[in-house]
Amino acid sequence: MITIKGLAKSFGKLEVLKDINIEIQAGEVVAILGPSGSGKSTLLRCINGLEELTKGSIEVNGIVIDASHSKKERVKKVREVRVHTGMVFQQFNLYPHKTALENVIEALLTVKKMDKTQAVKIGEDLLKRVGLFEKRDEYPSRLSGGQQQRVAISRALAMDPDVMLFDEPTSSLDPELVDEVLNVIQELAKEGMTMVIVTHEMNFARDVAGRVIFMADGVVVEEGNPKEFFAGPKTERARKFLKMEE
Ligand code: ADP
Ligand code: MG
Repeated sequence: MITIKGLAKSFGKLEVLKDINIEIQAGEVVAILGPSGSGKSTLLRCINGLEELTKGSIEVNGIVIDASHSKKERVKKVREVRVHTGMVFQQFNLYPHKTALENVIEALLTVKKMDKTQAVKIGEDLLKRVGLFEKRDEYPSRLSGGQQQRVAISRALAMDPDVMLFDEPTSSLDPELVDEVLNVIQELAKEGMTMVIVTHEMNFARDVAGRVIFMADGVVVEEGNPKEFFAGPKTERARKFLKMEE
């Protein structure tokens, strides 16, 4: 579903990602772990076409974005990739002046040009799926952080993505609201959704991910089975990281 080859990304002189090679199969749930500043968000943003690649290529379900593409080609491919990937951010990024339902169906109306009745039907089903049907007409300011994040997940699902990308989806939530969001993500995993999740929730990574990728300083330091990784990381860098996360 996702093939990343020789990916490098720099901001000016700062090399944030260096020769990243990752392959993710359809239906896989991959947790990306690593200290702050290691390039995790940048990696997700590259997959979603939000960053221009410095070197290498990323293929998402057959759509290839290559660093060597012309600007015109890049714009075209990025547009395609965006439609096929759903992204959920730490800060929920909902439209404050739209209700929960309006947030969820926005892209269906504007990008997919769907008629309103059909979009509302899909939107309501998605809100039901995350347990928020009764909140459909509320504005984000009247929802808890956990509820806002579940609306954001519904909104990303509305486009029927091939891949869901999560960038620390629970990091700005009060502790008691974390589980309601993780439960929704776990349900998606059970349904076979391909997902890449940047997270600091180690228990969640161990229990839900099929694979963990540990990054530091812009490189993949270690990857493998979560149970094995948490029981005995192979590198000193990962050992140190896990100790700090305890
Ligand atoms: P992580 O998500 O693992 O904390 P990031 O991908 O956010 O790491 O950032 C990796 C590095 O890239 C950091 O040093 C950060 O300051 C830098 N960085 C990220 N985005 C930009 C940007 N748009 N311009 C300049 N530097 C950036
Ligand atoms: Mg980040």
